[in-house]
Amino acid sequence: MAVEKIFILPGGFLNVDRSILLSSMGMGQVIKIPVYSVLLMDPDGPILIDLGLNPDGVQNPEKAWGARAKLIKPQLHEEDDVRRRLKAIGLAVSDIKMVILTHMHWDHTGALRFFTHCPVVVQRDEHRFAFNPDPFISSPYMPNHFHHPVDYQFVEGDGFVAPGVSVIKTAGHTPGHQSVLVRVAGGKSYIFTGDAVPLMDNLKLKVPLGNAYSAKQCVESLYRLEHLAQLREAEIIPSHDMSVYAIMDKSPDALK
Ligand SMILES: [Zn+2]
Repeated sequence: MAVEKIFILPGGFLNVDRSILLSSMGMGQVIKIPVYSVLLMDPDGPILIDLGLNPDGVQNPEKAWGARAKLIKPQLHEEDDVRRRLKAIGLAVSDIKMVILTHMHWDHTGALRFFTHCPVVVQRDEHRFAFNPDPFISSPYMPNHFHHPVDYQFVEGDGFVAPGVSVIKTAGHTPGHQSVLVRVAGGKSYIFTGDAVPLMDNLKLKVPLGNAYSAKQCVESLYRLEHLAQLREAEIIPSHDMSVYAIMDKSPDALK
């Protein structure tokens, strides 16, 4: 069994200092980065990976994002709301049978409150940390995103979560970060890395993120993902790399 189709659902853009994504590199250089969700058309029902920015920010950026509204200047339009992206390809929120969160940072959980009807797969370590993070690295968590009656389904380490869909624990950026390995009908595989690989340069240069819980674990996860991609002949899809995103097929077109 494998996933039938994959859709990349655009979810706006952020403007960040390059050194946040690549430790000590490109300081003072602001780069525009994409935010997106991934929709897997699984035989048992659609699965969503990550839930982007809080759509309330379209109307009221400061209320939704606080100081980030001015610092990171999220660019989000009404059509970027994941509910609208689903509707545009004929799906309702209630059609989603599972959500997988790579981690619980603010730019990956903004629409979580709309998905209380289905299991939300997250590493136990990530959930634990998100609710009580170490202060030095707490700011990317916005507790209002996940204090809802969410049906968390905890995983610890690697494992299948659906036919053709595995989670791979890739700690470092956060203590319980995970990536998602997907096998598509026809044989092709992808690894949606989340922020384990925000830019392809992280992987190429083996440089951790600037905002990492553990830089050492970040680098170990980079080597692990590189190896796994070679082993499974899988294509690595980074989370925030504009040059990769720009040429990727995006919804309503399926990823080819
Ligand atoms: Zn993150």
